[in-house]
Amino acid sequence: SEPLLRVSNLKKHFPVLGGLLSREIGQVYAVDGVSFTVGRGETLGLVGESGCGKSTTGRCVLRLIEPTSGEVVFDGQSVMGLGGGDLRAMRRNMQLVFQDPFASLNPRMTVGAILAEPFIIHGTVTSPSEREDRVASLLVKVGLKAEHMRRYPHEFSGGQRQRIAIARALTLEPKLIVCDEPVSALDVSIQAQVINLLEDLQAELNLTYLFVAHDLSVVEHISDRVAVMYLGRIVELAKASDLYRNPQHPYTRALLSAVPVPDPKAKRERIRLKGDVPSPMNPPKGCHFHTRCPIAEERCKQTSPELREGSNGHFVACHLA
Ligand code: SF4
Ligand code: MG
Repeated sequence: SEPLLRVSNLKKHFPVLGGLLSREIGQVYAVDGVSFTVGRGETLGLVGESGCGKSTTGRCVLRLIEPTSGEVVFDGQSVMGLGGGDLRAMRRNMQLVFQDPFASLNPRMTVGAILAEPFIIHGTVTSPSEREDRVASLLVKVGLKAEHMRRYPHEFSGGQRQRIAIARALTLEPKLIVCDEPVSALDVSIQAQVINLLEDLQAELNLTYLFVAHDLSVVEHISDRVAVMYLGRIVELAKASDLYRNPQHPYTRALLSAVPVPDPKAKRERIRLKGDVPSPMNPPKGCHFHTRCPIAEERCKQTSPELREGSNGHFVACHLA
């Protein structure tokens, strides 16, 4: 069946201004030709270091950032040409959960008012008493209590605030939620609870997730498939079990070698990459990874490898894969 979300050759280039006249002196290639699909009820993990373009990709899908080019098709309809009321209607079906729930919750509003707001803005629940009932049941759904609606965001722990942010994302019964590092700001002990909540909600509500994270270990259990990004491009995309057991791209291998494993006998040898991630303003020619790749060859400096399907459903962008 047709995937819920189809992203094709998405690009987002930001102009860089400089000098006294603020002329354009270059471009940041934040997202540089990204394609993927997310099936209905599926979770796609989108992983990479900071600056790789993963958050920008998530925001372009929702058109919170205007893509430079490419196509985003959601539920059979192009998102790119929509404006005004059509875009607002589409956005009811696509929600974002932010990394920092404190920054995304208005500190001067009660939790009840925060959760009722989307019903008012979109006019979906007009009766105040029905709104209160809906808010109460949303709070219970995310593991909080109905009476919490009378409190303010600062009265909650970080994990509870993220539950409130998730409840708000659910108010308009979306099909897709872009989760942008939703547990990165939380204590490790709380991270699993929030991930479990997201999994339970997905099963109950048939939600689809695009789950952005900087750490492969965070998305291992929640993702059906995982895409690894480096400098604005996807370098590997596979079923989660394939990617973790049999990583093909040298960058994925290096990332995975840093993930702690519980069984010491299964411990992978740590692969340390030379240097830092180059600036996305002047990404290296050819394979973006060649400046750090332990097995780079001469052709890697000239020709950019396409993301190609090797074994079934396992895509890799590497000349030597
Ligand atoms: Fe390394 Fe070359 Fe493969 Fe790029 S294409 S990951 S530089 S071997
Ligand atoms: Mg980010």
